[in-house]
Amino acid sequence: ARSLIRALRPYESKVVPDCLKLDANENPFPWPEGMKEDLLSQKVALTRYPDGSAIELRKAISEYTGVPAEGILVGNGSDELIQLLLAVFGGEEKALLVHPPTFSMYYAAAKVTGTGIKEVPLIGGISLDTEKMVEVGSLPEVNVIIVCSPNNPTGTLYPRQEILKIVQETGKIVIVDEAYSEFAGESLINEISNYPNLIVMRTFSKAFGLAGLRLGYLLGQPSTIELINRARQPFNVNAFSQKAGVVALKYLREYQEQIEVLKVEIADLAAELGRIPGIQVFQTRANFVLFKPDNPDEWAKAFAEKGFMVRNMGELPVIGKALRVSSGTPQENELFKKAIREIAVERGSI
Ligand code: PMP
Repeated sequence: ARSLIRALRPYESKVVPDCLKLDANENPFPWPEGMKEDLLSQKVALTRYPDGSAIELRKAISEYTGVPAEGILVGNGSDELIQLLLAVFGGEEKALLVHPPTFSMYYAAAKVTGTGIKEVPLIGGISLDTEKMVEVGSLPEVNVIIVCSPNNPTGTLYPRQEILKIVQETGKIVIVDEAYSEFAGESLINEISNYPNLIVMRTFSKAFGLAGLRLGYLLGQPSTIELINRARQPFNVNAFSQKAGVVALKYLREYQEQIEVLKVEIADLAAELGRIPGIQVFQTRANFVLFKPDNPDEWAKAFAEKGFMVRNMGELPVIGKALRVSSGTPQENELFKKAIREIAVERGSI
């Protein structure tokens, strides 16, 4: 094995039975009514290879996003796309610029592809250091930049002018990871036609509740997408998931209702956490919230004992130890808020 592979640790996702899963930023609701039956009644030729160019799905995504189908590339989750992007724009002697703390898969993909990593930490763990991003992003070795907005794990949505400044002034490939964009209600999609170096990455795993089916997509100018498409595995998205994406996009109104509920729910959950003395809460525009209680490890353990799985982020750059919790359904959140108060009382915080 290559030495850089030997240095890697496998990604571990914990499976804890009988726990309420609030650790992976998924949509907690079931699929919109009738969608499962709709999907299962579709004709999908499972004995044949899928349509490698995913024409029907890209057409549906085109209608949803307004981006022409030639500017769309689909992947087996955005995780696959991150690795694909670094296979195309990264590699030895090239570097990826990121803004820690941010999504861990960027680092994993950089390591696998031998891409160097440059970091410009978020100011106070909150704001983009735009000037510095432009400065470091302009270094000759930096070939690709990822801005995650809203950012995982902080939940922060970055001002579009700041992201566009990085796009304009570095001229490098800038990937804006909009995995949580449906919750923020904002996007840079309508800027794609202005910048050949801007790529927007989206997923069906969050707002659309299709995490188990692995479906993500890239949006960009046709010439940029065509380049990435050369390195794509020919049948990277299976036939069933392609159809699921097409069907899901027929239920936009129902999904929008779920999204509106989750937006209210996460604001409410954040407010509840903020009422506990000693807990610092990060403002969020996603379906999760990052918070720093007095002793995050003990709080995580206490939540687990009460049957709630939150994400213990460990020691985050700039921010330090923190926990991240995703919104459950309103009923689940009531139980979680009760647990917050109980733990606070048990720990003598209130
Ligand atoms: N980007 C961000 C910011 C994420 O939080 C996630 C999921 N944790 C992903 C990408 C990957 O999503 P998927 O591979 O399920 O499309």
